[in-house]
Amino acid sequence: MEKVLLLNATYEPLNVCTWQRALKLIVKGKAEEVEHNDCLINQTICAPTVIRLRYYVVVPYKELPFNKKNVYHRDNHTCQYCGKKSSDLTIDHVIPKSKGGKNSWENVVAACTKCNNKKANKTPLESGMKLSKKPGRPTNYLEFELTKYSSENFDDWQKYTAS
Ligand SMILES: [Zn+2]
Repeated sequence: MEKVLLLNATYEPLNVCTWQRALKLIVKGKAEEVEHNDCLINQTICAPTVIRLRYYVVVPYKELPFNKKNVYHRDNHTCQYCGKKSSDLTIDHVIPKSKGGKNSWENVVAACTKCNNKKANKTPLESGMKLSKKPGRPTNYLEFELTKYSSENFDDWQKYTAS
């Protein structure tokens, strides 16, 4: 479904929301449309792609949730050992849990089933398998979220997100 880029009153990107929420904000007078695409909903209502809040909000620090989906996205849905892009990925603990490895951004990567089975309960050193890059916590929450939706709306969004 179409996602909408939500800007602060200062035109700084704030968040990504659904178009339903965007329309609600516009109808309530809380936001205004900045960009829209072709009229998707019907002939008279156009789906916004970028909206701007009429008032300034102080952005609270938001930490990216640590979960499978976000780990796969961080790793570009690619096995971090063999480099294969796959929709059938598993979570691999670089240092196995049984060896004290933590369930954290720094110790978890996406791995294909084959590599995960091969690595089994070993460290990369013991298994002779090399990680394509050092895992870590994505630093920019918004940037991370934006890359999830950077398809059709991207041109419209880029004006506001390009730094
Ligand atoms: Zn693999």
